[in-house]
Amino acid sequence: VSGLQDAVAAVVGASHVLADPGLKAGYEVDWTGRHRGEARFVVRPADTAEVAEVVRLCVREGVPIVPQGGRTSFVGGGVPRGGEVLVSLARLGGVEPVDEAAGQVTAGAGATLADVQAAARSAGLFFPLDFGARDAATVGGVLATNAGGNRAFRHGMARALVAGLEAVLPDGGVVSRLAGLPKDNAGYDLVQLLAGSEGTLGIITRARLRLTTHGASVATALIGLPSTAAAVELSTALQRRLPGLDAAELLYANGLELVCAHERLRPPLPHSHAVYLLAEAAAPEGALEALAEALDGLLPSPEHAVVADDTATRERLWRYREGHTEAVSARWTPLKLDVALPVAGLAAFVEELGRVLTAEAFLWGHAGDGNLHVNVVGLDREQEAGITRAVLELVAAHGGSIGAEHGIGIAKREWLHLTRGPDDLAAMRAVKAALDPAGLMNPGVLL
Ligand SMILES: Cc1cc2nc3c(=O)[nH]c(=O)nc-3n(C[C@H](O)[C@H](O)[C@H](O)COP(=O)(O)OP(=O)(O)OC[C@H]3O[C@@H](n4cnc5c(N)ncnc54)[C@H](O)[C@@H]3O)c2cc1C
Repeated sequence: VSGLQDAVAAVVGASHVLADPGLKAGYEVDWTGRHRGEARFVVRPADTAEVAEVVRLCVREGVPIVPQGGRTSFVGGGVPRGGEVLVSLARLGGVEPVDEAAGQVTAGAGATLADVQAAARSAGLFFPLDFGARDAATVGGVLATNAGGNRAFRHGMARALVAGLEAVLPDGGVVSRLAGLPKDNAGYDLVQLLAGSEGTLGIITRARLRLTTHGASVATALIGLPSTAAAVELSTALQRRLPGLDAAELLYANGLELVCAHERLRPPLPHSHAVYLLAEAAAPEGALEALAEALDGLLPSPEHAVVADDTATRERLWRYREGHTEAVSARWTPLKLDVALPVAGLAAFVEELGRVLTAEAFLWGHAGDGNLHVNVVGLDREQEAGITRAVLELVAAHGGSIGAEHGIGIAKREWLHLTRGPDDLAAMRAVKAALDPAGLMNPGVLL
């Protein structure tokens, strides 16, 4: 196998093959610290041709591969389990000039979400996909996980924002569909198949992304409410009243208190509330007035909300929401269960969840699309297994999904049958077997 390492080094250059334990270590653990394993070695190719050659060499030797982006995902799919060649896409960065006529941009798999957002902004356009890990999450990872985030209920998840991609298939072949034509019906949609495949069907090396326009006027509100039901009701009403509603995020009192303590922020409102909705609206002009008007008559009193359009206040309001992941992870290694429920049933689910959870839990999520992040702390591994089963079975009983925006990875693989039937699973296995007969592309993930 050192022969493999030498052959790979001949392709990418010896300095881009890391076999020393000290040099590999940073690539072998995810953001949470929960998922880690030892890679045979780490390889950092520079372009699609090098990725393809590395894959061909691994296939020839029968050695499994793990594709890796920014390591910010939570279900363990982007770190080694033991003995794989870890292919880091970090060097495939770079964002090409924006194609203004098409309203699209092509980026390397290793470019970060923030890189793409900045490129869009510099052309007077907007890339709507956004979430807290924007500075580290990569284009390849975002597509491989079909990431969602704050604006997904309005603009769709990553799948809705990808117009094309280039990828290396598990046999080392290259698929390149980067024209981004809005009308292109010539066979199976391999772009959509690769999106959300969690690195199990190939390695994404470049992507063509759809941009949009965004109002220059943006206003944000944080609203205190008595219950989840009230928050869902308000989110639904705002979606009807405000065509420019861009975010409707859900927070709870215990998480907000934790964030305030962790970031030394003062509480957002004069009184504490059980639940909070963070709403944001964008418009060509007058977003503040539009948001205030939409809220009019929906709140018990003005003291229940803070509404702002200045950058400093808006950024502070977002910290209360985006600070959750970091504040919880700073104190614990939480059991993270990311689930989706039909919006109409979200409040009933949360109520029943309270009866199932026997330990302290922090909930937050994206109210606009029924996506809840359940973070349970203070459990040992055996208790975690019991809670995972109970929560995911409850999700299935409520008609939800056990994998909303973080995917299945390693962490939820054994629960996939809860929301995918036997024929459905068989079809997915058949696709995997057709493209990756040797099972070397991110084995153990998803299926
Ligand atoms: C603070 C914080 C907030 C977050 N908020 C959100 C959120 O709101 N919405 C959301 O969806 N996610 C969120 N996430 C999770 C995470 O950022 C996303 O899942 C992101 O898409 C992962 O990208 P990555 O580059 O870090 O991928 P990695 O973690 O490196 O990999 C993720 C998966 O994709 C595969 N993969 C990576 N690159 C490629 C490639 N080029 N080709 C093929 N497969 C590849 C890996 O094998 C793995 O299975 C958050 C994470 C953090 C830390």
